[in-house]
Amino acid sequence: MKRIALYPGSFDPITNGHIDLIRRSSQLYDEVVIAISFNSSNKNLFSIEERIGLAKESLKDIPNVSIIRHTGGLTVDVAASIGANVILRGIRNTQDFEYESNIATLNKTQNSSIETVVLIAAEHYRFLSSSMIKEIALFGGDISLFVPPVVETAIYEKYKNDVKRDLHAERQ
Ligand code: ADP
Repeated sequence: MKRIALYPGSFDPITNGHIDLIRRSSQLYDEVVIAISFNSSNKNLFSIEERIGLAKESLKDIPNVSIIRHTGGLTVDVAASIGANVILRGIRNTQDFEYESNIATLNKTQNSSIETVVLIAAEHYRFLSSSMIKEIALFGGDISLFVPPVVETAIYEKYKNDVKRDLHAERQ
């Protein structure tokens, strides 16, 4: 039987921390499927299409990885629908531990045959989050150590366009 793991998340955008976790898990499972969540509250910087595009480009050298949209519904149902019996998550600190253990326990109540497996973040990526990267980029900082070049370019483009739009709106 093929061992398939589902890695769900918002990936807004994908970072070197996520990629490290995906690379490591791709050695443990036959297939790792990344489910990128659609967020109806629209609080993401990137649209779901953009997040998928950035993840695809960043992961193109890992053969047993694929990407799907997680457009709603229970994560355990998404896992079951693709034949995955593992949900993969990452933990960086005790805060993540609290959060992830709650979700894992809840998921278990919904489908007891699906296990959550957590990988501990690599030491040098333990402080890394998508939101921290966005904040550094917003203030013009250097994010090249934390994201692939395609993501770095996309964030700066996004903020450049936002600034242009704001200036345009101000003049109206
Ligand atoms: P979510 O909105 O579901 O938390 P994220 O994209 O922020 O989505 O994270 C997806 C998963 O990846 C979570 O389990 C998170 O703890 C983990 N993760 C985020 N950043 C890192 C990192 N730097 N190293 C390892 N795991 C990480």
